[in-house]
Amino acid sequence: MAETDTKPRIPVTLIEPIDMSRLDPSFREEIRSMPDADELSACFACSTCTAACPIANQWLYKPHQLIRMILLGMREEVLNSKEIWECLTCFQCQERCPQKVRVTDILFDCKNLAAERGIVPEKIVALAKELVDKGQLYVVTADWEREDLGLEPSVPGLSTEAVKSILQGTRTGRLTKGGD
Ligand code: SF4
Ligand code: SF4
Repeated sequence: MAETDTKPRIPVTLIEPIDMSRLDPSFREEIRSMPDADELSACFACSTCTAACPIANQWLYKPHQLIRMILLGMREEVLNSKEIWECLTCFQCQERCPQKVRVTDILFDCKNLAAERGIVPEKIVALAKELVDKGQLYVVTADWEREDLGLEPSVPGLSTEAVKSILQGTRTGRLTKGGD
């Protein structure tokens, strides 16, 4: 598909000059106003978060760069990045930040903002659908295996109905139906 003028141009590396005219300072304020992001402005770009991150070497935008991009107001680049969805939520970055920047929580904030705009990767929507339909992401023991092992047809005491019912009324439920 041809690139359009409205689509953000993702630089190959952040060494490329940033187009200052595309920055949106309100993005930084929006993130900073969220409950977990008070310390955002205290980041001094030490890269400790990136050094601690087990997956950063696979990412174009490393955790310290994502924080810097938020501070700069690179809304489109951050919210369209695959990195915010690939975060393992291991909290290694957040626990080690000398400035107490809640890096993991800020990436959650970014995911929520992206989801509000319908920017959610297909594989995440598929996982959400699984969760809403079954009330759990992982089946403890598959039906065919239970029979082979002589187990009861379902896990004793396991009830997922409440989880399914709650999720169906949430944005996750609407997302799986093609809504926001
Ligand atoms: S560890 Fe903290 S201060 Fe250092 S770059 Fe990451 S967020 Fe910024
Ligand atoms: S929480 Fe996410 S960004 Fe932080 S270290 Fe883990 S994978 Fe990396």
